[in-house]
Amino acid sequence: MSGVLVFVDHTRGDVSNISTEMIGLAGEIKQASPGAVRMVLIGAAVAAQTELFNLEPVDEILQVDSPAPEFDASEYQEVAESLVRRYRPSVVLVGHNANGMAYAGGLAVALGAGFCADIFALRREDTTWIATRSGFGSKLNVTMGFPGKSVIVLSVRAGSFKAPMGRGNAALITLPAVAPSVRHSWTHERFIDPPSEGVDISKSEFIMSIGRGVQDEKHVPRFAGLAERLGATLACSRPVADSGWLQKSRQVGLTGKPAASCKLYLAFGISGAVQHLWGMKHVETIIAVNTDHSAPIFDVATFGTTTDLFAIADSIDKALDAKRGA
Ligand SMILES: Cc1cc2nc3c(=O)[nH]c(=O)nc-3n(C[C@H](O)[C@H](O)[C@H](O)COP(=O)(O)OP(=O)(O)OC[C@H]3O[C@@H](n4cnc5c(N)ncnc54)[C@H](O)[C@@H]3O)c2cc1C
Repeated sequence: MSGVLVFVDHTRGDVSNISTEMIGLAGEIKQASPGAVRMVLIGAAVAAQTELFNLEPVDEILQVDSPAPEFDASEYQEVAESLVRRYRPSVVLVGHNANGMAYAGGLAVALGAGFCADIFALRREDTTWIATRSGFGSKLNVTMGFPGKSVIVLSVRAGSFKAPMGRGNAALITLPAVAPSVRHSWTHERFIDPPSEGVDISKSEFIMSIGRGVQDEKHVPRFAGLAERLGATLACSRPVADSGWLQKSRQVGLTGKPAASCKLYLAFGISGAVQHLWGMKHVETIIAVNTDHSAPIFDVATFGTTTDLFAIADSIDKALDAKRGA
């Protein structure tokens, strides 16, 4: 068995970043162990977006017809099972999110495959794969091997791999829908959109994030205004969301969202607990403002200052005023 099958993750055709990030991982796998990289697109909603996945390491794009208008975990599992039996890949990649979690484990069991959820690194050692994920509430990194397994299923953490930039030369193959072998014991009622005021921090390239260091809810508008002036998306640590100072959708971290597309992360009064770092430590440029010089946020920061965060916010405001006046 060789090669990689990558399942494109989308909600009603809205493709998540993890889909192209998994192509980055597939490219790494291909280098370590040659074999075809195949992207799988299920459903009419993504049929027009095949070019999005025609990136350097991709050899084939398999477009699978589907009668289901909504994501259906049983259908994804059945399509995946039939494609694994047909193409015999050694690695199957699925996004680690609500969709992927709904079928990745079942798929691994049905195939008798090795399985690791929420991986953020993968390496080849001799003839086996070693995956890395977090353990014990993200306090430790855990590595996992798959002895005796010819195929493994991995669900991949968002923001862990870089999507390749180079265009590819992939062949497009259209496949018929897979007939369901089991009758569902449930039906899809309706799709509920998240509240329209909700932001998607995972898509922002510039995030300004506030933590408990801002001290009081009454200071939040001051930082919201600063974020707007800077052109940043306002985000926060968990205590800020838990206190209701900002919406949960703005929380970065393990139980919030990863800053998956972020290139610049400005952290005001955030200590840098492991659960928060989980969502942002990969960011290229991190600027930390924290009066405690031993705060763990400085372990991942590119630049940092121990100056009071209100003083820094004032200085930025003044600099922006001066720029506007100039
Ligand atoms: C299962 C689990 C899941 C979790 N998930 C998440 C998650 O998704 N996201 C998340 O963020 N947390 C998460 N947490 C909580 C996490 O462990 C921390 O408690 C939290 O991240 C701390 O938030 P904070 O940095 O804002 O607050 P604190 O840890 O209290 O840090 C505040 C910082 O502000 C600094 N400060 C104070 N005053 C000033 C000032 N005037 N100027 C400059 N700096 C100042 C302090 O030095 C301090 O370092 C989770 C915890 C658990 C157990």
